[in-house]
Amino acid sequence: MRAWLWLVLLVFISPVQATSVELARLDASAADIETLREAPESSWKAAPVLRRGAAEQSWWRLRVKQPQAGNDIVLSLKETYDASVTVWMPPDYRPQQAGIFDLAWKQVGSRHRLAFILPARFVDQPVYVRHEGGRYQPMPVTALPLEDYLALDLQRVRFTSAILASLLLLSAVATVFAIALRRWMLLMFCGWVASCVLYVAVMSGEIVALLPWPSLLPHAMRMSGVAINFGLVLVYGFTIGFLELDRYYPRASRLIKALVAIAAVLAIVIVIWPRSPAANQGINIVALLLAALALGTAAARARAGSLQGWFYLIGWGGVTVAGVARVWNFLNLQGTPPMLEWLHPLAYAVGALVLVLATARAARYAERELHVARHEARTDPLTGLPNRAEFDAALAARLQAARESNTSLWLMFLDLDHFKSINDRYGHAVGDACLKAVGDILRKHVRASDLIARYGGEEFVLMLEGAGAQRALDAAESLRAAVNSGAILVKPHRIVLSVSIGLSELRGDDEAADLLARADAALYRAKQNGRNRVEADFADNLGLSAP
Ligand code: GH3
Ligand code: MG
Ligand code: MG
Repeated sequence: MRAWLWLVLLVFISPVQATSVELARLDASAADIETLREAPESSWKAAPVLRRGAAEQSWWRLRVKQPQAGNDIVLSLKETYDASVTVWMPPDYRPQQAGIFDLAWKQVGSRHRLAFILPARFVDQPVYVRHEGGRYQPMPVTALPLEDYLALDLQRVRFTSAILASLLLLSAVATVFAIALRRWMLLMFCGWVASCVLYVAVMSGEIVALLPWPSLLPHAMRMSGVAINFGLVLVYGFTIGFLELDRYYPRASRLIKALVAIAAVLAIVIVIWPRSPAANQGINIVALLLAALALGTAAARARAGSLQGWFYLIGWGGVTVAGVARVWNFLNLQGTPPMLEWLHPLAYAVGALVLVLATARAARYAERELHVARHEARTDPLTGLPNRAEFDAALAARLQAARESNTSLWLMFLDLDHFKSINDRYGHAVGDACLKAVGDILRKHVRASDLIARYGGEEFVLMLEGAGAQRALDAAESLRAAVNSGAILVKPHRIVLSVSIGLSELRGDDEAADLLARADAALYRAKQNGRNRVEADFADNLGLSAP
């Protein structure tokens, strides 16, 4: 968090703009370049920043401060966007009309700014600019030696390309997550990332190089507006899911949903009337409220120990800070500080990365929880053995397989003897400990391939596959002996238990219920015949007997 605070400070204290150009605004209207050049000095008013006024057109004079002869100078205008700019330069003062999204305009470097070359010999001569239309944001003007300008421009292009590439990559990764993990809220996140890509591409001017349909270029500003506004709707839809607000802060969640709905309506209004001041102001206010609410709830979640809350603060905090700093500078009638020009796209990329990582982490945890829940649903909590539901499902499957492959299958029903009296005598807790101990004994005495389960109360079942009658009988007998072989120690008691076992074999067209019923009948006989013994129900009487 502290790192972000430093970045915020840097944004605000970084020099607003290297004022290498002296700006003056014509305090009258002009018809052409001749009137401009002949206008008396008194009609030029010094201005800190080139910015559209109330009138549709404004006229400006630019002079390079402390001109050093010998270098061609690039005069650049930033954030002109959809404004139309006409520039008259020495020596011939022929008009050059330029627009960021105007393909007919050729200039050095990229479209991050509008660039005009002032030849070295004329750097001390004034340059005139007519500004028409466009928005109200300031347009910082800089003068840099050609080489410096190109070097800086190349850096910017590389940086922006890297940001755009990482955003696209993250969006692709998030889409894969969304589909693989069925986390549909992630698709909203992908939509937001896509909107950031479009926004950054327009704002950096890269859209001119990237857009496959140049006929759309005149609508570039509208595209970026649509992108940023619908991105807003999407990212707060995602936020509700990401922070699980429906569950933890239902009221805040409802409020965010209401604000998102208002933002969606305003976004549509802005698509139709892009310059509607009410709609544009309205959506800015809604955006601020949403940011405050989201960061507030994220902070509350973080304080409650939720990592998702922290992830959100780190990821979205940067985007919010950069956005607010941008608005703050705009309201102060200053151009975007150079630092912010780098930080804003960077905040998008970092934010997207953090949120993708956090979503992946949350998905992994959800998967793990599901895994645990599935395991619990199949397991008896007291003995740790599979439970009846798990056994029934496995029995049905193995019964089918045994019938198809014609292998033998045996079922054992085990019921502890006089267990009620154990409970009556020692108490239920001791009874539980005995059941656990019996579970351990049984687990130790069966093979890995045998399926054993706690069927209910003090009853266990065991399934043996591929064994002959004698081995099945021997196995039952050894289990009976194991339970009865020594005292179970439940401090301070030593308890001797015994178990009765009924054994049955799979016959031709048996269903699971038939097999169980015959094992149960055999068990009943074992109880009848004195308990602590094995009774078997064979397909034919083989004359086998317990040893
Ligand atoms: P027998 O089977 O030999 O006829 O006598 P029994 O006393 O074991 O009779 P029965 O099988 O009908 O009773 C089962 C008893 O097991 C009833 C109940 O007190 C006890 N029991 C069932 N489930 C649990 C359990 O989860 N914990 C404990 N402590 N006791 C249980
Ligand atoms: Mg019983
Ligand atoms: Mg019993």
